[in-house]
Amino acid sequence: MRRVILIQPRRDGRVFGKAPGSPYTMMRLASLVPAEIPVEIWDENVRDLALDTVREGDLVGITSMTVTIEGAEQIARRAMRQGAGVVVGGVHATLMPEHTQTFAHSVMVGEGYFTWQRLLQDFAAEGVKGMQPVYKDETWANLEGLASISDRVIQLVDEKNHYWTPYLEITRGCPRNCSFCTAIRVSGRKMRLRPIDEVVDEIQRRGIKRFFLTDDNFGLNFTTDPDYCANLFDALAKLDLHGWTCQSEMSIAKYPELLEMSVAAHLDKHFIGFESVNPDNRSELGGKSKGVAMQATDAIRIIRSHGVGVVGLFVMGFDEDTPATFQAMWDFIRQSELDSVSTTVLTPYPGTPFRDQVEAEGRLLDVPWSHYDTCHVTFVPNNFTVDELRAAYDWLCRKIYSPSQIARRGLRSLSRYPLAKAGKKAFGSFSTDYGYRRTYAYRNVL
Ligand code: SF4
Repeated sequence: MRRVILIQPRRDGRVFGKAPGSPYTMMRLASLVPAEIPVEIWDENVRDLALDTVREGDLVGITSMTVTIEGAEQIARRAMRQGAGVVVGGVHATLMPEHTQTFAHSVMVGEGYFTWQRLLQDFAAEGVKGMQPVYKDETWANLEGLASISDRVIQLVDEKNHYWTPYLEITRGCPRNCSFCTAIRVSGRKMRLRPIDEVVDEIQRRGIKRFFLTDDNFGLNFTTDPDYCANLFDALAKLDLHGWTCQSEMSIAKYPELLEMSVAAHLDKHFIGFESVNPDNRSELGGKSKGVAMQATDAIRIIRSHGVGVVGLFVMGFDEDTPATFQAMWDFIRQSELDSVSTTVLTPYPGTPFRDQVEAEGRLLDVPWSHYDTCHVTFVPNNFTVDELRAAYDWLCRKIYSPSQIARRGLRSLSRYPLAKAGKKAFGSFSTDYGYRRTYAYRNVL
């Protein structure tokens, strides 16, 4: 084997010279490549791909999301033409292996940490001939010792100079069952926890001061494993961190002691999936939210009172939504104390019950996969025409991401900090909203 090249197709590009988030899964897979085999990570968000150098003897691994699958396909076809072995993994490959198989020697279904090692052996032994069509790993393995990031990869990626936000995993999986969620189809519904000493070791070796957790629903651990959270917060409190953020749910408001401890551990912001303020949507929300605005308002107030921020995540276009839902959403967002807001259009991703439903009802739109970015309408809604839903969504985004609203939320967010810390925190406070505004604007001019 000449070398292993792991490729992340372009999605967001660069902002002020750096890509938004580090290629975390690739860093872990690259760390499993034996030391004697050269390994490279090519992130198209950071630089153009040197595809003309790819040739026989190279093993090319491409990660796939549904929204980037067309780019992944082009890269895969070219690398195959030039004689390399090509494997595609990631969310789209896991949820649509038959589609992915049409343009790769191998498809990696599931988490891949074990099957990737088997593929490396197969390719080393027999080249392309040795590659199996499908490598499937859905065992939801114990995370202990699993694919720790090696020092070689830490140097290779140089996160400080190329990425704004390092990613980190502490837990994986989510026992909820939201009808539109792809995360649980990839990471499973069993909550798994990394040993705390491994988390601390990784943070220290990578030298990261800020990070965003890739965990599907970190906040649910407050309920399911409070002792683990307390021990984790104790350990992180001792580190010199500037702040970290996670995906969460509003049930954390019921745990004041853990919230206090989390602030001492430098946890800065929870991204909370409230999803809807329409209680008629509760069956879609898998138990984490009942779509009741009053409950959400109370939870936001309680969480913020502990000195931790809340970014509200909302989804529009459920079958029970009407034009009144958009007005109710705007009223809620304006009156709530949210630090930042993300609102997306419900999207029927492959492998989800929601897609099965709209497909059975003949409501899927014939659009390119690049429209599966949660900003385009990709199915025929129930109480709107496609154009009406698009217009209602645009109306809401213009309201939420107006410069005055971003400034208002940013200043409110900064007010959580003592004056001496406010300067350091200013970037983080404004950048979340600004990032969403940019995403929305960018995708709508495509
Ligand atoms: S709570 Fe979040 S991670 Fe869990 S099933 Fe729902 S959308 Fe998925």
